[in-house]
Amino acid sequence: MSTRPDAKVADASVEKEQSMVLQKQLIAEHYEALSRARDEGKKIVYTFVPGNLTELIDCFDLLPVLPEINALQSGMRKLSGGYISEAEKIGHSEDVCTYVKCDIGMLKKGNVGPTGKKLPEPDLLLLSYTGCFTFMKWFELLQQEYDCPVAMLHVPYQADGRIHAHQVDYVVQQLRSEVIPKMEEVTGRRYDEERLQQSLQRSAAAEEDFVAVLESARNIPSPIDAYFGGVFYIGPIFTAFRGTQAGIDYYRLLRREIEARVEAGLGPITPDGPLDRERFRLVVEGPPNWTSFREFWKMFYEEGAVVVASSYTKVGGLYDRGFRHDASRPLETLAEYCMGCYTNLGLPSRVDLLERYVRDYSADGFLINSVKSCNSFSAGQLLILRQLEERTGMPGGFIESDLVDPRYFSAANIKNRIESYLQMLAQRGKQPVRGGPA
Ligand code: SF4
Repeated sequence: MSTRPDAKVADASVEKEQSMVLQKQLIAEHYEALSRARDEGKKIVYTFVPGNLTELIDCFDLLPVLPEINALQSGMRKLSGGYISEAEKIGHSEDVCTYVKCDIGMLKKGNVGPTGKKLPEPDLLLLSYTGCFTFMKWFELLQQEYDCPVAMLHVPYQADGRIHAHQVDYVVQQLRSEVIPKMEEVTGRRYDEERLQQSLQRSAAAEEDFVAVLESARNIPSPIDAYFGGVFYIGPIFTAFRGTQAGIDYYRLLRREIEARVEAGLGPITPDGPLDRERFRLVVEGPPNWTSFREFWKMFYEEGAVVVASSYTKVGGLYDRGFRHDASRPLETLAEYCMGCYTNLGLPSRVDLLERYVRDYSADGFLINSVKSCNSFSAGQLLILRQLEERTGMPGGFIESDLVDPRYFSAANIKNRIESYLQMLAQRGKQPVRGGPA
């Protein structure tokens, strides 16, 4: 690891790029805004990440609470284990998605959010779920807790890997007849299509820069880690900042920093500083573990393994496949966005996507992190593994962990499997060492 003096802000132990500082600031400010919401008369909507309607929500000045983000933040702050046992005490089984149990446990403990500030109760539950039925069950539980309306948006699954015109019409019709009227009722405001269009234009601008960031990993060495670093990059665009000037500013800054790294031939920044030597380029399928996130990441960067593309960074949209929000078709573009998220894709589409990543990003191998409690990701992963091995001629790696349940992160076992897999890749062909400061 080396240190460089440019464009970074010093933290207690680790250097941080300015974009990282800004990202944390944005997320923290959002939690601050939520804690002030009641005093400021703001209305609150609880909703989910995949298929979120951020621009429409913002159009009504609603503030979103995203339960999955609370759960993963609680995981990173080592709070999730306690919340999960709280939920299990009241009868939620071990097999239930741990995001759900973490959220329910947090709620039962007073609904104090991961930053220590109490979360406001919802004025609306907006269920625009994509691909995973658990979302519906999750909101059924929240509905029992809160006395507020529920808006349900049913998003059809991409069964044949395509979005059909009749499906777009079906979703738009629900936006007009169900979602918008509920938002109007809750906020007392009228739907303002012009405002929505302006917001969608800002979204498309940020999406351009975001895609440039993801695609920078085609460079050898890659200037980013598209999984462990990628989860920070997706934060603003997958949550409350799509359609905002703050979102545009963040992705512009991030892109500039990464382009400078490409120019200098540098690898990604890790929690222990810049990675000088790239030995393995990997594609990863499945979400990360949050309770031991840094330890998990370290298992990769210690070996010089860099993730150049991942499916997890597509749960809130497949922008790198060309989708951009289109302000000229405001409701249609929201419908297409919802249907295009990774969790809404069938297995053949997932395999195609991952195969393309392996080839386009010159990967040496691919690894699946099978998350115990997320059926939406883990169902079919062995089939994905087999098909990818056949199509790419490469052996795949397979590890198991969980999202936010610390009981299912066996560090020694996972480290052992990752090291064995990388050794196997190394034996298949000498891995060139790439990169280092120019
Ligand atoms: S099962 Fe997976 S996709 Fe579904 S809510 Fe849980 S974490 Fe999200």
